[in-house]
Amino acid sequence: MRLAGKVALISGGARGMGAAEARLFAREGAQVVIGDVLEAEGRSVEAEIKAKGGEAVFAQLDVTSESDWQRAVEIAQSRFGRLNVLVNNAGIGGGTRIEETTLEDWDRMMAVNATGVFLGTKTAIAAMRRAGGGSIINISSQLGLVGTDNSSPQYQASKGAVRLLTKATAIQYAREGIRANSVHPGPIVTPMTERRRADPAQRQLMISRIPLGRYGEPDEVAYGVLYLASDESAYVTGSELVIDGGWTAQ
Ligand code: NAD
Repeated sequence: MRLAGKVALISGGARGMGAAEARLFAREGAQVVIGDVLEAEGRSVEAEIKAKGGEAVFAQLDVTSESDWQRAVEIAQSRFGRLNVLVNNAGIGGGTRIEETTLEDWDRMMAVNATGVFLGTKTAIAAMRRAGGGSIINISSQLGLVGTDNSSPQYQASKGAVRLLTKATAIQYAREGIRANSVHPGPIVTPMTERRRADPAQRQLMISRIPLGRYGEPDEVAYGVLYLASDESAYVTGSELVIDGGWTAQ
């Protein structure tokens, strides 16, 4: 098993890509802490993993709260003994053009998508140091690499921030055996994209921009995250793993 003996904390693990990563990590032998604001969904992923013989626990986590992060990392250590892997996956989407964006819209998305990754990283580092090293995987987006006309300024700015926060983390902690990499998914079938996928014109517009001609599946991202979490990627840090159906190749 590719993650045997590892303890992983996944933010936003209650649904979408985070839940796919939680299930896959557990199948590969990891003990998983599912951190999310959605308690019922998170507990249901926990129950599903346990029913299949895996190990998981739900932790109430709002990624904008430093004390919630401290509690989630403490749960990893008290339940499973240590923390080896952090997936900063929680995020929110939406928004519109710059002139229609309020300061509150901007601040909220930066708080969840960018500050949340900073707080998670900051809190996990001490635990990873105690564990002798670790792997931090930050979920950015293809829109953290290139601009587009049909996303919002705050989404793209927040995902761009995640990309370079990852490189800063990689450089500052490499000598302590703590790696950090960013993952850049393109459009994926999750609750976040549900509304756009349900609108035929929007769906067609998105598909026309994806060279592979379809939305990706959560597991197609989860397998990339699994690689970065495992020791197979021991020499990989500060890198960008693009899983976008070819969006950024154009
Ligand atoms: P999703 O909306 O299906 O799931 C996101 C999860 O994050 C939810 O469980 C939600 O409750 C949780 N979350 C939101 N705010 C939170 C907070 N403050 N604290 C803790 N948890 C919180 O979204 P998804 O599509 O699975 O997205 C996962 C990540 O991938 C996000 O960072 C998203 O920006 C990124 N991403 C998504 C796509 C896509 O097309 N779906 C593409 C590129 C990047």
